[in-house]
Amino acid sequence: MSRRIIPVADVSAIPDFSGVATPPSGLLTDTLHRPLRDLRISVTDRCNFRCVYCMPREVFDKDYQFLPHAALLSFEEIERIARIFVAHGVEKIRLTGGEPLLRKNIEFLIERLARLATPEGRPLDITLTTNGSILARKARSLADAGLSRVTVSLDALDDALFRQMNDADFAVADVLEGIEAAHAAGLAPLKVNMVVKRGTNDQEIVPMARHFKGSGTVLRFIEYMDVGASNGWNMTEVLPSAEVVARIAEDFPLRPLEAHSAAETAQRWGYVDGGGEIGVISSVTRAFCGSCTRARLSTEGKLYLCLFANHGHDLRGLVRSGASDDTIATAIARIWERRTDRYSQLRGSNALPVPDPDAPRVEMSYIGG
Ligand code: SAM
Ligand code: SF4
Ligand code: SF4
Repeated sequence: MSRRIIPVADVSAIPDFSGVATPPSGLLTDTLHRPLRDLRISVTDRCNFRCVYCMPREVFDKDYQFLPHAALLSFEEIERIARIFVAHGVEKIRLTGGEPLLRKNIEFLIERLARLATPEGRPLDITLTTNGSILARKARSLADAGLSRVTVSLDALDDALFRQMNDADFAVADVLEGIEAAHAAGLAPLKVNMVVKRGTNDQEIVPMARHFKGSGTVLRFIEYMDVGASNGWNMTEVLPSAEVVARIAEDFPLRPLEAHSAAETAQRWGYVDGGGEIGVISSVTRAFCGSCTRARLSTEGKLYLCLFANHGHDLRGLVRSGASDDTIATAIARIWERRTDRYSQLRGSNALPVPDPDAPRVEMSYIGG
């Protein structure tokens, strides 16, 4: 396959902070009345895996231009921006990437973020999504730094299939060891995310459910999404969550559970015999845009309002221009107040044109999942 560099950067101007200054009140809402509650921060665009659905090797090869270090937000910049988001109402921060554990001294960033508190004085929920490959080594220091919980991605228990899917020869045993270490370090309740691709790993659904049933780890099945422009997404490879639930229920009867909160993305199902629960995230077949309270900060400090956005707002430019906290807070308010994004909902209602596979869509590894 010929090499394609996927454009992720857009030409962006310094965000608008005109008009009356908007100090944070925690009451910010967008055009669809959605508050701002979650911030996902991508700390690196690099990864040691080449998952076929996220960073296919033929695109992310040795010639791929990852961001230079100077382009990345520093820990000081991330903390400053995060503090302003928290004043605006953010209660939960998730670190992601790329592979966040590859960012050098990530524990130092976690320590800084763990010191932030909501305006009411509550500690933040600080989590991290990882491929688990070096979690066994890092779990203790992450917990000591103040990480609340961790989500580990694992797409198969079958070792040959897993190596094929991560395309970097990492073994299932490494990830399972990481999960054990995270448990031992108290990074609980632990979640494991499995992206389901029909025809690739759907035969692993029941074995994965069996493995994690009764372990205290919540296994969540994610529908394969059309995010980015490099994975050659096709609707025929999406296995609807309803089918995931039906397949598991054949072996282990399930009953629906109440959502923990209105903004929860996963639908919860409990094992009737009391062996814990699973979750399904139906990003394609049951859009949850109506309750989407998430903003995403890219590795180089652009603010994205949707996973499927092709335009980011250059907060790094604003920060590096010497803007005050008030100016940054006003810019964030302006951006969120104008937010209209609801891509999955529109896709589900067939209101969107068929996506152009060559359109400049932002990549998952850059914006963070
Ligand atoms: N490297 C870390 C990891 O894999 O957990 C964090 C970043 S990764 C982009 C975050 C999550 O996005 C992972 O659980 C991954 O499986 C998921 N993901 C990536 N591409 C996806 C796609 N096309 N559809 C659904 N989930 C996807
Ligand atoms: Fe890396 Fe995570 Fe993407 Fe896999 S899903 S290539 S582990 S960033
Ligand atoms: Fe949120 Fe965009 Fe996903 Fe809808 S498609 S849930 S707006 S990230």
